[in-house]
Amino acid sequence: MNVSDMNLIFLGPPGAGKGTQTKKLIEEFGFIHLSTGDILRQLIRSRDTLGLQAQIYMDQGKLVPDGLILEMIQTKMEKKCGYIFDGFPRTIDQASALDKIVPVDHVVYLFLSHDVILKRLTGRRVCEKCGKEYHIEFMPSSLKDSCELCKGRLYQREDDRPFVIENRLSVYEKQTKPLLEYYHEKLIRIEACGNVLSIDQENIKKIGLSTHKAMSQCCS
Ligand code: ADP
Ligand code: ZN
Repeated sequence: MNVSDMNLIFLGPPGAGKGTQTKKLIEEFGFIHLSTGDILRQLIRSRDTLGLQAQIYMDQGKLVPDGLILEMIQTKMEKKCGYIFDGFPRTIDQASALDKIVPVDHVVYLFLSHDVILKRLTGRRVCEKCGKEYHIEFMPSSLKDSCELCKGRLYQREDDRPFVIENRLSVYEKQTKPLLEYYHEKLIRIEACGNVLSIDQENIKKIGLSTHKAMSQCCS
């Protein structure tokens, strides 16, 4: 199957590294990355009205209402296939709305332990100018508190503070985890434990893609 005929969803708890794990598939196979979290943060940086509406929910670790998310997703989609959805859908209602717009081929479920989730989220830092992510321990910037790409200041996301993290995890359990059942026939389960890429050759095959390039293996 060609990438241009295929849609993938990446599902997993906050901190699973959905953005990082999708990067290879995007660079190597040419998928278009649609991360609702990234799009929302971009809208907030540009002080867009929808973004500012969404920010109130995001800062508290709550989900942004389905209506806003669906409106936003639809304006970003110019064709039917070739997408990796990252952080979307996050509710059953979003999933059934997506089913009405485009076909979904595989749902990659990234799972990891609670301890790793907490470590990843509390140490994450983001560039305020370009949005690039770092981690104080696992992926520090060589310029300390500034971004290697654009020298922007690195900050901690409002929703990466411990109290809000708890909220996000309980929202995930209640509202997003039911999607595992919803998509059970399309699910590919991948452990996202280490600092390295879990999307290895074997998993790429499961997705139905073929590549001659070798990819690094997971899990130190
Ligand atoms: P993470 O996966 O680490 O929680 P994201 O960047 O995917 O981070 O999302 C950050 C926040 O953006 C979420 O906590 C939520 O408020 C909002 N958000 C992102 N995607 C969606 C979505 N599909 N539906 C509702 N809210 C969303
Ligand atoms: Zn930057």
